[in-house]
Amino acid sequence: SQSSAAQDPQARRRHTQSVYIGGVGVGGNNPVRVQSMTNTPTHDVPATLGQIRTLAAAGCEIVRVAVPDETAAATLSDLCAAAPVPLVADIHFDSRLAVQAVEAGIAGLRINPGNIGSAREVDRVVDAASARGVPIRIGVNSGSVEKGLLERFGGPTPEAMVESALSHVTLLEKRGFSQIKISLKSSSVLDTVHAYQRMADRVSYPLHIGVTEAGTPLRGAVKSGVGLGILLWEGVGDTVRVSLTGDPADEMVAAWELLRSLGLRSRGPEIISCPTCGRTEIDLIGLAQAVERRLRPVETVCKVAVMGCVVNGPGEAREADIGIAGGRDCGIIFRKGKVIRKVHGDANLLPVFMEEVRRFLAEWGVE
Ligand code: SF4
Repeated sequence: SQSSAAQDPQARRRHTQSVYIGGVGVGGNNPVRVQSMTNTPTHDVPATLGQIRTLAAAGCEIVRVAVPDETAAATLSDLCAAAPVPLVADIHFDSRLAVQAVEAGIAGLRINPGNIGSAREVDRVVDAASARGVPIRIGVNSGSVEKGLLERFGGPTPEAMVESALSHVTLLEKRGFSQIKISLKSSSVLDTVHAYQRMADRVSYPLHIGVTEAGTPLRGAVKSGVGLGILLWEGVGDTVRVSLTGDPADEMVAAWELLRSLGLRSRGPEIISCPTCGRTEIDLIGLAQAVERRLRPVETVCKVAVMGCVVNGPGEAREADIGIAGGRDCGIIFRKGKVIRKVHGDANLLPVFMEEVRRFLAEWGVE
């Protein structure tokens, strides 16, 4: 119906070409992808691989690693061989590193061909990427717009960012290369939105959307949520990065919650928890945070409620599959609206509730 289409951003998704980052399709009919970037020194293979695995376990489908120098580039074949998800090499200004990354088995490149030097150097990168079917993301940030465009547009405006990206796109198209993704990130939410909206009208390449330098986790998640939320609601965006100054695994929580909120994709339990109030008699904030952290690796889509009191808790969370509501030094565990267990002692709330949640998850789908 018209009203359901109006409320369904999936139905409005812009038609784009698709590219494949390893086995992960981006654009076309593929779901909106979730990606992030490591912040370990790339050449520290154990640390970087550890972070890639943590990100993958939290729902990250593509991981980008910075390749600032030869030392980092030399570790890429080990990283690519062991990583559970495809890797993208983020390279600035250096065509040799880009070719090296492709030869090491990287699944995607993020490089702006206009910044890597001579036409021959661009040829070399494009030839290597074409030979191995490696897509290239052109990533324009408001801070990296070329001087001429800054003068022409009076600053790093959305128009300037779009023109900058298109000039890099032209360099690839001239060489017959079309495995392209584009990003246009600004730390201004509205500039980011305007830039992507303009670009969506100009090309059919898939768009990697993100607000750059969004900030510390709480503020950054809000800025990204607003910017990416507007774009995704309008059907723009094929892969998302929520950039936060903090643990990249937190980016996964924000990104998946964003997609879930828009009805685009769901992964893992939705945690319903109350804000607490004068009726709360247990350490609800600590309990909710502990439950959320323990459930991060769980992929089953369900609703888990952590509520402060028995007066309103079970009622407010009656849609939950399983939940706990606090009482005086006790907790009531309910499943599908029915009370199934009473737990005594503050210290027992978390372990007993987690036991019941795990039982519920194990029985999921076999009830
Ligand atoms: Fe307060 Fe209970 Fe509502 Fe939590 S569920 S905010 S404790 S009334």
